Order: sequence, then C-alpha cells, then structure tokens
Amino acid sequence: MVRTSGLILIGYWDGPNTTPGWPRPERFVDTTWDVDDRDMVADYLARGHVVRAYMGYSDYRLCGERNGTLELTDGTFVWPEGLRHYVVEHTLRLPDRFVEHVRTRIEGLETAARDEEWWRTQ
Ligand SMILES: [Zn+2]
Repeated sequence: MVRTSGLILIGYWDGPNTTPGWPRPERFVDTTWDVDDRDMVADYLARGHVVRAYMGYSDYRLCGERNGTLELTDGTFVWPEGLRHYVVEHTLRLPDRFVEHVRTRIEGLETAARDEEWWRTQ
C-alpha cells in the first residue's frame, strides 16, 4: 500500500534561497559510511515515483552544480531528486531512520509472497 498523505520530507537544505531552519548538508558528511549501505540508499533514491516537477533549477549547496527539478517519493518519504547527488558525490550519510526504512522496504519486497493467480486468469 502506498500512502498518499503524511509524507516525511528529507533532503532539503539550508541555503541562500530557503527559509531558515533546514539542516546544513555539511553536518551529514561521513566518508566512513559502509559502502554497501551507501549504494543501497543511492539506488533507492533514484527509484522514487515523481510527485512534483518544479519550474527552474536550484544549485547544490556543496558544489554549485545545477540540481534537478523533480521531487520523488516512495509513499512514506519525499525527497528532491538531487538528494542522490549528495549521497554519491559528497558522501552524505542520511539518518538511520531513513536508512533502516530503505533496508526494510527492500527486504520486504525481495521476500514478499507472490500471487500469480490473478495474472494467469487474464
Ligand atoms: Zn555536487
């Protein structure tokens, strides 16, 4: 089931064009983070459903490159498509709550029972 309300926002940062109170990406840099966990989260962030497309670009806080314009969701969390860039290119480690959510979601899908009957009867 995919929830469509109450999405938990992650990956928006403090910057020159934002309202105050967002986290600063520098605080999340962790070059020692487990490579497999980083890859798992990076892949997951690339596979969200598009919920919104913004007009115009924003810039990455840490390098000034042009960020994406899409907002993605998995039905629980919602994040800007550029969040993956921070994880991959700037070695940000996202909070454990999100990492464990990703792990649980992936493992749940990989081990889920499969109902083949419906499709066989089409
Ligand atoms: Zn960058």
